[in-house]
Amino acid sequence: MADDPLPFDELVAHARETRVVVVGGGIGGLVAALECAKIGMQVTVFEASDRLGGLVRSADVAGLTLDVGAESYATRGGHVRRLVEELGLADEIVAPLPGGAWLAGLPGAAPLPKGGVLGIPENPFTDDVRAIIGWRGAWRAYADRLRPVLTIGEERSLGRLVRRRMGDRVLDRLVAPVTSGVYSADPDDIDVELAAPGLNAALTNAGSLSGAVAALARSRAEAPGSAVEGISGGMSRLVDALGARLVELGADIQVETPVEAIVPTAEPGVKPGWTVRTAEGDLNAEQVIVACSESAARALLAGLIGPADSDRVAPRVHVVTLVVDAPDLDGAPRGTGVLTVPGSHRAKALTHSSAKWPWLGEAAAVGHPHRHVVRVSFGTQSEAPATDGLGRDDATTLALAEASALLGVRLDATHLVGSDIARYEQTLPGAAIGQREAAAAVRATLSKVPGIVAVGAWLSGTGLAQVVPDARAQSEVLRRATLFGSAPASE
Ligand SMILES: Cc1cc2nc3c(=O)[nH]c(=O)nc-3n(C[C@H](O)[C@H](O)[C@H](O)COP(=O)(O)OP(=O)(O)OC[C@H]3O[C@@H](n4cnc5c(N)ncnc54)[C@H](O)[C@@H]3O)c2cc1C
Repeated sequence: MADDPLPFDELVAHARETRVVVVGGGIGGLVAALECAKIGMQVTVFEASDRLGGLVRSADVAGLTLDVGAESYATRGGHVRRLVEELGLADEIVAPLPGGAWLAGLPGAAPLPKGGVLGIPENPFTDDVRAIIGWRGAWRAYADRLRPVLTIGEERSLGRLVRRRMGDRVLDRLVAPVTSGVYSADPDDIDVELAAPGLNAALTNAGSLSGAVAALARSRAEAPGSAVEGISGGMSRLVDALGARLVELGADIQVETPVEAIVPTAEPGVKPGWTVRTAEGDLNAEQVIVACSESAARALLAGLIGPADSDRVAPRVHVVTLVVDAPDLDGAPRGTGVLTVPGSHRAKALTHSSAKWPWLGEAAAVGHPHRHVVRVSFGTQSEAPATDGLGRDDATTLALAEASALLGVRLDATHLVGSDIARYEQTLPGAAIGQREAAAAVRATLSKVPGIVAVGAWLSGTGLAQVVPDARAQSEVLRRATLFGSAPASE
């Protein structure tokens, strides 16, 4: 149209002439690839392993397709839900049963107290909190109300803040199990403001940590909807749907094709850009999206961003999934799962998946009324997985013993129907102290390099609710740079 401010035909043609290579087919890479394919760019995804999804992984065990990596997404911001809806899976969105989890290693076990933030209680004298920290711990925590208000500055370390205000018992028995189970990290290493945005400000207003937790918990309770959701049939359906949509849009997806190097294109007559090297040969691209784990990304971008700080060690996590026939689990004796007090057990957490997700409970029970699915997780930042060096059989035996102790139910090889072990190198949580600054430094450096962006949990923070919007934002940076020539800027 003559009066159109933008030359659409030219833009469309330009998009179609642009080749984008995405290195890594996890959720970050697939979402970024989708955003580029949508506007007609020629997209190639190289994935090192034999399947897409990265840490969103499934395994077939005893006839069931089970999530053995991520099993849900946070509803925060609505980003993942929008993606799920866009991919036609809106009717498959499910909420977990609100059964609640337990805490083990006190000694004994008790239900995790309701309410609170990151395990920090609003009121240390309620029966459920006192059952865990005892009268001594409750009185020490109450001292928080009597201590002088924190007026100067903010406490950055969650562990230090809780220890100072409420004492060791709240920290060790309520907060550490949560940070270890959720972030695989010690509370001392967690940044308060990133893990619980608003807590520091509420502390200044309320004058005590318990008052701040109450205010924050109230505001969260007013926000509609459950904190996490899943997909009936498992999160791997999201990966399948992303892969299928990419193929529909003409993207080329190559699995079992690790990228070995990314170097500036230096061929006469070829457009400036990047040459992406795999064992299959070289591919020239105007734009590259690096979407692998931190260690792989830093190796590929070594000339640009350098290595990670040696003191920032990513936690290794192993997940052993057990399918068992066990009538004693029918009543879900530990609700949806168990967190452990660090150091008390060899496992760090357990999820009774078939009790947590009704669709899975129903699928497991078809023809086997007492069949259950249980996931046992090992390893944190400060503790190597107890399953290290064990083959599947030995890891399964250890996981059965841990599950038995954590669930308070006898479980052994006679109950076992099938098992799987998945081993991961997890990214440091985005809420780890220093992680955000390290990510910002990488983004600042890359923003000066034309034609390359990087996405993924090591830059956005862990969890799909962070990876998905960040991958979209970075693709937009790349699209703008391609179509309008605006300098890539860090978002
Ligand atoms: C056990 C576990 C449970 C979790 N549970 C949840 C949960 O319930 N909810 C939630 O939101 N999050 C969860 N997370 C976190 C979430 O899964 C991740 O934050 C997210 O999936 C990371 O996506 P990504 O694309 O950044 O990276 P990845 O998933 O790690 O993808 C990177 C991909 O790059 C590929 N790659 C690496 N090197 C190369 C190379 N040289 N060439 C080509 N490809 C390469 C890898 O094979 C991989 O497929 C969990 C994580 C783990 C480990």
